Amino acid sequence: MILLDGKAASAALRGELRPRAEEFLKRYGRRMTLAVVLVGDDPASKIYVENKRRACEEVGIRSLNYFLPAETSEGEVCSLLDTLAEDSRVHGILLQLPLPAPLEAERILAHIPTEKDVDGFSAENIGNLIQRLPCLAPCTPSGIMELLKRNGICVRGKRAVVVGRSNIVGRPMAALLLNADATVTVCHSKTVNLREECVRADLLIAAVGKARLIGADMVKEGAVVVDVGMNRVNGKLCGDVDFEAVREKASYLTPVPGGVGPMTIAMLMKNTCDAAERSVRNELFRKIQPISARI
Ligand code: NAP
Repeated sequence: MILLDGKAASAALRGELRPRAEEFLKRYGRRMTLAVVLVGDDPASKIYVENKRRACEEVGIRSLNYFLPAETSEGEVCSLLDTLAEDSRVHGILLQLPLPAPLEAERILAHIPTEKDVDGFSAENIGNLIQRLPCLAPCTPSGIMELLKRNGICVRGKRAVVVGRSNIVGRPMAALLLNADATVTVCHSKTVNLREECVRADLLIAAVGKARLIGADMVKEGAVVVDVGMNRVNGKLCGDVDFEAVREKASYLTPVPGGVGPMTIAMLMKNTCDAAERSVRNELFRKIQPISARI
């Protein structure tokens, strides 16, 4: 079994993004900028936000962090997002989820414009992804595609099974795999015989949130297995895949931690770079347009 090392792949990707951030600063005299908004004091969210800040620092992206108290109203969060949306010096906006009750993510997220939606969660970005149009794709599934590519794993023609159908992982994962010519099956809590579906997979992606749900009996000999799950068991982080049992059968396997997680943050950096470069291209285009209109 070959370990799909997300730490190494994400370090390589971050290294490739650094010159892009430097070039941007040199050309435009300002830094690529990511604004991160955290509402409340969920300890896990605080760690994620800190990890994102550190990744930005490493790549050379300016990070603006907004920490709002849990009692912040929907109107106040939306008003901050609207201000960031208007600010041309901000290229990416991320609202850390989950939001404390009674805030509703869907309505609030709609205040992040598509071109700054570096998490890739907006209906427009997801719609573009489904239609194979340019978009900012959600970071976890696109990080998985990047990890596979960097390990020389081609998904074309492969039978891929995605377990989980959430908006942020399962569904966009299925779309990315389909766009890359895999034959895709999506399983969920109502799937009748999960084992039967999984054992047919050349590529098995587990994104459920149930510790060690995927055992060796659910994995085909030689399959590529990607474990998205992040579950705490007795204070220890573990995935949705029974790593020790599945390693005997899989050809490639992601560890937890150190597999998909680091790729997610690296792809957030990539989306921010893409959004920043696109924004200056659009700015130039807007300046050129009135001139060409006169010709
Ligand atoms: P989610 O929104 O809770 O979705 C879980 C999915 O799993 C749902 O579609 C659910 O089906 C399905 N499911 C639940 N029990 C099942 C079962 N027994 N058999 C088959 N399917 C079942 O979770 P998520 O946000 O997608 O996250 C999934 C896991 O990935 C979590 O552990 C999360 O922490 C982790 N995660 C990791 C990263 C990373 O960067 N490493 C990023 C995001 C998420 P229904 O739709 O029928 O309810």
